[in-house]
Amino acid sequence: MGAAIRAAKSGLRRGEVPIGAVVVYGDEVISRGYNRRAEKQLASAHAEMMAIDAACRKFGSWRLPEGCELYVTLEPCPMCMGAALNARVDKLYFGAYEQKGRSMTAALAEANLLNHKTEVTGGVSERECSALLTGFFAALREKQKAEKAERKNSGNNCADGPETLD
Ligand SMILES: [Zn+2]
Repeated sequence: MGAAIRAAKSGLRRGEVPIGAVVVYGDEVISRGYNRRAEKQLASAHAEMMAIDAACRKFGSWRLPEGCELYVTLEPCPMCMGAALNARVDKLYFGAYEQKGRSMTAALAEANLLNHKTEVTGGVSERECSALLTGFFAALREKQKAEKAERKNSGNNCADGPETLD
């Protein structure tokens, strides 16, 4: 999970919502991904998709070899859980739990849609994974508040005096 957290931080440095994922095979991290939705402006640019796609490219196969594990800092959305099942990921470990009802991880894992079972374990390094997200959104709210205050102030300046705006 440490590698997934580091991947999430790579996204954070680029201004993305910090979610990271890695695929592990035989105790080795074989691919990494972080959320790149803002950069790519693609709804599918989730950390898990990046990591799973990179792993498939590495193995030259949509079906990952037996024993592949996916680590992700946040409980996956249904799209990413679907991709994990499609790629035949054997085990999924996630950190923070998604808000109630927004993920269908357990239901999808149980559904056995593809005649494949992915074993799911949640809450791995949960505190650290959650802190990444809560820290990001708290900073975002602070930034928005500051920008709002600044707009208000610059508005007052316009009304008050002859300050020029560059
Ligand atoms: Zn997703």
